[in-house]
Amino acid sequence: MDQKIALIERAKEMDVEFIHLQFTDILGVMKNVAITIEQLEKALDNEIMFDGSSIDGFVRIEESDMYLRPDLSTFVVLPWTNYPREARLICDIYKADETPFEGCPRNTLKKVLQEAADMGYIMNVGPECEFFLFHTDEKGQPSLETHDNAGYFDLAPIDLGGNARKDMTVILKQMGFEIETSHHEVAPGQHEIDFKYADALTTADNIMTFKMVVRLIAQRHGLHATFMPKPKFGVSGSGMHINMSLETLDGKNAFYDEGDEMKLSQVAYHFLGGVMDHAKGFTAITNPTVNSYKRLVPGYEAPVLIAWSASNRSPLIRIPAKRGNSTRIELRNPDPSANPYLALAAILKAGLDGIKNKIEPPTPVTSNVYHMEEQEMKEKGIEYLPGNIYEAVQWLSKDAVIKEALGDHIYEKFVDAVLYEWTEYSRYISQWELDRYLRKF
Ligand code: ADP
Ligand code: MG
Ligand code: MG
Ligand code: MG
Ligand code: MG
Repeated sequence: MDQKIALIERAKEMDVEFIHLQFTDILGVMKNVAITIEQLEKALDNEIMFDGSSIDGFVRIEESDMYLRPDLSTFVVLPWTNYPREARLICDIYKADETPFEGCPRNTLKKVLQEAADMGYIMNVGPECEFFLFHTDEKGQPSLETHDNAGYFDLAPIDLGGNARKDMTVILKQMGFEIETSHHEVAPGQHEIDFKYADALTTADNIMTFKMVVRLIAQRHGLHATFMPKPKFGVSGSGMHINMSLETLDGKNAFYDEGDEMKLSQVAYHFLGGVMDHAKGFTAITNPTVNSYKRLVPGYEAPVLIAWSASNRSPLIRIPAKRGNSTRIELRNPDPSANPYLALAAILKAGLDGIKNKIEPPTPVTSNVYHMEEQEMKEKGIEYLPGNIYEAVQWLSKDAVIKEALGDHIYEKFVDAVLYEWTEYSRYISQWELDRYLRKF
């Protein structure tokens, strides 16, 4: 039977009344256009149109007619809906002339994945998304209070956060996620739920779904979930470590080589070399907010220096001990405020550039690098990651490879948006300044 007809039948059998056609904008915000079941056929024929000019960073008014192309494989009934049931389909955005829209981050990732496929590789990614659960006040506004140090909440017989996390895991499983671990993180109120790696496109979709579920279920527990990278001074921030590997078309892990001293292949070393070479260039994409850089400070297992290690958790890259099919590279600077499609496109592009140009990685470090002396850094050629989003954008603007991955449209809109924020932030008078200078001068 025709795939589209089969999908419509399935939706009807499951009592689905509404379908959310979802896509992600340049800044990583999920958008959706809801349709009724009667319109599903039209949607699957790619005939659902929306006004692109009404969405941040998309297009100018004169070219605003955009079409949604649902990816049939992403159909999922939303488990928290009863009757009428709702489902979602993730879409690519196409222009009126039926070509992919350059401002659609999902198209951008697909383009880089195609480049990898042409070289004979599938990219597999497993993310580790961290988040905080905060209490809300009487008005439903988020506070910075957490369940595990919230004073009187300590007396509660149940762990609110733990319960919410359990529910999140259940819902995610119902949506087809394979949950590997779910645990409390280092900071009070901080959590991590890890799901199994998949090809990069599926994982980027999963990250968007994951964030939606976590926020929604937190709300149902009277909590506020935030993926803000560093909501609290003095405790760990939330990262989104990216574990990645390349798979050959015959299903082998291309990073594994039994014969090598570290059991890593040439491809793995070159990929690593490329990622390190372009780290400054892609940090604006993997860490896109003003706040992202408050996480990238020494002492909280977040990276500051562009170095790699087989074991230590302070440098940018760690190679977890697992080998065979689990051979992977863990990139530790990305945070969950990143647009996952753009972040994975940029990181993969960097790695592929390393393979194409046979970029050798520097020698690994073996110790904690937070307190490495400038002299030693110089000798080893180790550099700092950009210190703020402004600096990161300057590095991005000099990196032709990462810019190519993004394409002109996304690059320009992204930089405009980020610099606007930086300017606003720079002009703002913070409490820190008042505390510091009001009496002093
Ligand atoms: P950590 O030790 O850094 O806390 P986790 O166990 O929390 O790591 O997460 C590891 C992630 O790596 C999981 O999402 C897992 O599915 C993923 N992973 C495992 N093998 C591979 C692989 N070959 N390629 C990409 N990701 C992988
Ligand atoms: Mg982890
Ligand atoms: Mg772990
Ligand atoms: Mg963690
Ligand atoms: Mg990790």
